[in-house]
Amino acid sequence: MSQIEINTLPQMNQVWSQTLDWQPSDTQEQLFQQVYQEVLAGNRQQNLTRITSSEDFWEKHLWDSLSGIVGLPAEILNQQLQVIDVGTGAGFPGIPLAIAFPHWQITLLDSTRKKITFVNDLIAKLQLNNATGIVARAEALGRVPGDRASYDLALVRAVSKASVCAEYSLPFIKTGGFAILYRGQWNDQETLNLESAVAQLGSKIELIHPWSTPLTQGIRHCIYLRKDSATPKQFPRAVGVPDKQPL
Ligand code: SAM
Repeated sequence: MSQIEINTLPQMNQVWSQTLDWQPSDTQEQLFQQVYQEVLAGNRQQNLTRITSSEDFWEKHLWDSLSGIVGLPAEILNQQLQVIDVGTGAGFPGIPLAIAFPHWQITLLDSTRKKITFVNDLIAKLQLNNATGIVARAEALGRVPGDRASYDLALVRAVSKASVCAEYSLPFIKTGGFAILYRGQWNDQETLNLESAVAQLGSKIELIHPWSTPLTQGIRHCIYLRKDSATPKQFPRAVGVPDKQPL
């Protein structure tokens, strides 16, 4: 059948509202559609994602990006949050969040220049004035005044082991803020390991929320880390160390 049909996202308003009690507006829906087209086009120039069919893209990039966020209490969602997406790749979860929450300011961080070139082009094409891509290593930017302890919320999806993601993200967060780790399978041993890692970083596990994705029933866990006190000066450790010697 026609190319247009294959490249159009499915209409999922009912699934959005049944699973997340949230629905995109028509404008947000059009922007999601544009994101899909641009990622497909970008994928012809560089390897951005293996998830390219329209239903997979909807479920594994759009729904998944928003799943752990849109159900947060309205008094949090309505604030003008400063948000950082650590290791954003082609812009997930940061781009769908910038579309869903235009009053948030979102920094999309990745160490790969080509990915951030794509993300900044995408931001310009979508005319999102609340998102900016930055090329840097999390371990380096997490030490820079103006970025360290400067964000309300950090998001990390598919970047590394959970304790490494915690060391990358928590230094960015103000005391009282949250880091959210997007994980797949999860077990009690991982909870114990992560508890000990985040305690060293000034944080606690506030909640582990299990999900099942709506079309293929994939297993997901959203881990909410609350920052209780300043991250000690020695964290994040030097570039490469968190990944080689996880806490
Ligand atoms: N978060 C996206 C997603 O879920 O689709 C991308 C995931 S991709 C598998 C991991 C990304 O993290 C890569 O683009 C990589 O360049 C980036 N990354 C890995 N370590 C990083 C670090 N220390 N600082 C910044 N970015 C990093």
